[in-house]
This record gives sequence, structure tokens and C-alpha cells, in this order.
Amino acid sequence: MSSSGAEPSIFSRIIAREIPATIVAETENIIAFLDIAPKAPVHVVVTTKDPQYHNVVDLAAGNPALLAQLVAVAEQIAAERTNGQFRLVFNTGAAAGQTVFHVHAHVLGSPTPTDTLG
Ligand code: 5GP
Repeated sequence: MSSSGAEPSIFSRIIAREIPATIVAETENIIAFLDIAPKAPVHVVVTTKDPQYHNVVDLAAGNPALLAQLVAVAEQIAAERTNGQFRLVFNTGAAAGQTVFHVHAHVLGSPTPTDTLG
């Protein structure tokens, strides 16, 4: 969980298949996998294969087209796995709960039509 870039992030190790994860979507530049500690019935992490952007603000400034690709994959996952109502969360900064400093979105939702999210 380095923020210095000196060591690969846990997500880079998932992308390299060095550690296992349940990958649910993959494109040339984006990968998505089930969160190891789900906080909703559907909880998918969507991240860039490029580890250089530490958070969504960095990515928006440095490569907005890549951010759009990330959001498109998140939208596809939500369409496939949720009731159509979902949260798309980018924790930004340690004080906001960010623990992995490799830009990623959380897709949080439920497949059940009546479920609401707190
Ligand atoms: P953050 O707190 O940085 O916004 O989100 C990091 C997320 O990555 C957390 O929800 C955490 O549960 C998830 N996570 C951390 N390590 C692993 C791992 O090794 N595998 C998977 N699948 N998810 C992980």
C-alpha cells in the first residue's frame, strides 16, 4: 500500500496475477475485481492498469480519457450486477479512507430491486 511508488501497489500485484482476485471485467487499460472485504452485496473495485495516478484528481488532470474509460467499465459492471441504483466512490486521501494509492473506484450496489444503500 505504498504511496511512494517504490513498491508495486496491491492492485499492481493483482494486475500482474501475482496475487489472486476474482476479476470481473478487463479491457486494454482497465481491470475490475471483487473487493476482498465487501461493504455492499455488490462491491467491485475498478482500477487503471497504469499505476502512476494515485487518486481520481491526479487521473482527471493527467489523463481524463482514461478516467472516462474507468467510469465506462464501472457503469457496465453496475448494469450487469446491480438493480441500476449504485454508488461510485473514489476515496481520495488517507483521511477520507483511501488505503491503496493507485486510483480506483468502488462500485457499490445490490442486485435486489428493493434494496437501498446507506
Ligand atoms: P480504498 O480504501 O483505498 O478506497 O480501497 C481499497 C480497497 O481495496 C478496499 O475496499 C479493500 O478491501 C480492497 N483490497 C485491499 N487489498 C485487497 C486485495 O488483496 N484483494 C482485493 N480483491 N481487494 C483488496
